[in-house]
This record gives sequence, C-alpha cells and structure tokens, in this order.
Amino acid sequence: MVVVKQVASWMEAWAPRWMAMQDDPVGLGIGDPQATVETVLVALEVTPAVLEEAVAQHAQLIVTHHAPLFHRLASLNEADAHQRLIRRLVENGIHVYNAHTNLDIAPGGINDLLAQRLGLQPTQLLAPTGHLRLLKVVTFVPSQAAEAVRMAMAEAGAGFMGAYSHTTFTASGTGRFLPTEGAHPAIGTVGRLEEVPEERIESIVRTDQAQAVEKAIRRAHPYEEPAIDFFEEAFSPEIGLGRVGSTPEPLTLAEWVDRVRERLNLAHLAVCGELERPIHRVALCGGSGGSLIGDAIAAGADLFITGDINHHAAWEANEAGMALIDATHYATEQVMVEAVTTYLRRCAKQEGLTLRVEPAQSAVPPFSMI
Ligand SMILES: [Zn+2]
Repeated sequence: MVVVKQVASWMEAWAPRWMAMQDDPVGLGIGDPQATVETVLVALEVTPAVLEEAVAQHAQLIVTHHAPLFHRLASLNEADAHQRLIRRLVENGIHVYNAHTNLDIAPGGINDLLAQRLGLQPTQLLAPTGHLRLLKVVTFVPSQAAEAVRMAMAEAGAGFMGAYSHTTFTASGTGRFLPTEGAHPAIGTVGRLEEVPEERIESIVRTDQAQAVEKAIRRAHPYEEPAIDFFEEAFSPEIGLGRVGSTPEPLTLAEWVDRVRERLNLAHLAVCGELERPIHRVALCGGSGGSLIGDAIAAGADLFITGDINHHAAWEANEAGMALIDATHYATEQVMVEAVTTYLRRCAKQEGLTLRVEPAQSAVPPFSMI
C-alpha cells in the first residue's frame, strides 16, 4: 500500500523542497499525507480537464509542476472558477503534490531534461541559486555482501554526481573483530578473533538523504553492528536555474528553430535573430525565463531558449546580439510529465509496491499556434 507521504518522499529524494526559490509553495499543496494512493496522475498543472481526467481515472493524487494554490486564497467560493476547481479537488478526495522551482533547479530536473531533449550538453548553470550540501559516506562490508550494499546505497540516493548515479569507490582489505558475550555475529563465533575479507565502499550523499542511506545500508548489511561513517564533504557543487552548453557541432539559428519545433512538438514558435548565424553557445531555461536574459548574455550565449519572453526583454537580447527562441512556457516544461511518470513508476517498482502512475492525456497548452 502506498500513501501520499511516500510519493512525496520519492519526489523529494529527486527535488528536495529546500532547493525551491524563496516563497515558492512546493510540496503537498492539497491533501492528506497519510491517505492511500493507488493511482497517480502526472500533469504540468491542474486544469478543469485534468481534474475531470483524475476523477475518471480514480486517481487519488495529482503530481504537478505548477501549484494550484500558488496565490493565497481568501475564500473558496463556488462562483469563482479557480476556487471552484480547488473545491472540486477536495470534494473528490484528490490530493495535489507539486514540485516547482525545486524541480527546475534539481540535478536531472526540468532544465536538465530540456537540455537533454534538445541535445544540448550542459556545462554550466545559467543562474546559480545555492549549493548542494554533501556528505561522504563510508562503510565496510564482507565481500560477498558488497554488491547488495552498493545497490542499496544507490537506491537510497547515494552516489549522484551530475548526470551520473550509482557512483562509488571500493577498496579491498581485512576486517577484524572479536564477538563477545551476547553478540549474534553473522560471521564467526563468540570468543574467537575473526578475520574477514571486507570491502570499503565510499560514496557521496546529500545531507537530507543521509538518514535514508544509513537505513538502507543497515537493511542490506549482514552485520549486527555495521561500521558506517559520514564525513563533511568540502566539495559542494552549485545548483541553479537554467543551463548553458553547446552541441558537438555548431548549428545555425534556423537549424535550432527546426530542432526545437520538432523535439518540443511545436508547429510554430517565435524567434529573434538572423537565421543563418552560427550558434556555438546555447542557454536555456524551462518555463518563464525572460528575467534571465541578462544572465544568458553574461554567460556568452549566442542563443537563449525559454518561454514567455516579453517585448522589452527581446530587444535587450537583440541589442546584445543574442538570438532568442520563445518555445512557450508550456512546451519547455511539459518535459517533466514523462520524466516524473517514469521516475515514480521506478520508485514504486524498486520498493515492490503496486502503484499506477499515468501521464495526463487531457493537458493542453493555454494557447493554440495558428
Ligand atoms: Zn512554469
């Protein structure tokens, strides 16, 4: 049985709430952490159509990027369309969990997903917002159990480095111990000094996941008293909004337009700049990235891809000689739906839990391109 809180903890293993921008209401926006969930619907946002789909699918939880309660409400009046939507969610027992700027910022989140979709190899952040707080975790395991412990550590969140997961280092050695009265050793006997071939496994872990990793090691480790150490990690990589990178071969702006249209399923998009110019460095930001135009110029980008670019921001880019593609707020963030669906299915499967996770089919952008 899965409860809302469990799905929330899976989401927060990926995009912890502390990563969100200040005053961004992320987490369980509507609902009960203890409620049972059999079906989850994943959507960019809760529209009336997505609500209807959730009811029809008997989904108890909707996981979104945009929070339905982003702005404070002073009432829940049936006469107001948005307030009515909130009332319907509650009346139908539908819980809503949202990961917003924390999912934009998180490694592997919306900006990395967008970069991946567009074939851009990100080499730096567009706008750093903070640092990952990391610990070094070290444990000593009898050789035959080392693989199980390594996997358990990785599944609990240890070993994430950029686009890599499951990163560990292992060295072989000898463990010595003497089980005394009252001990129930997995290897050896009470009163006799034992020598066991052991492996030292080390990895890194975010501070907010250290407890989960410790628990996972204890579950997978055969010893009664496993040695587990956590050390402060001096290395603390930056995290932030947007990404900057390049393609193996530079494309022209016209080729970028074709690529973005094709890979984000857009019939039309807005472009600013000379179509034949070569693009070496590309900045991107999912959603509404117009306020980061100055950062993109400062990062030396030849092209900035985002959504919701306004008139004056476009001129600012134009004057600085940087091309722009407005690929819409919706299309640049819609990449989260497939990724969150796959991720939650994998989390449930890894823990042997039955959970149906479906991408919303009824979600549409607010604008039509005609
Ligand atoms: Zn957005």
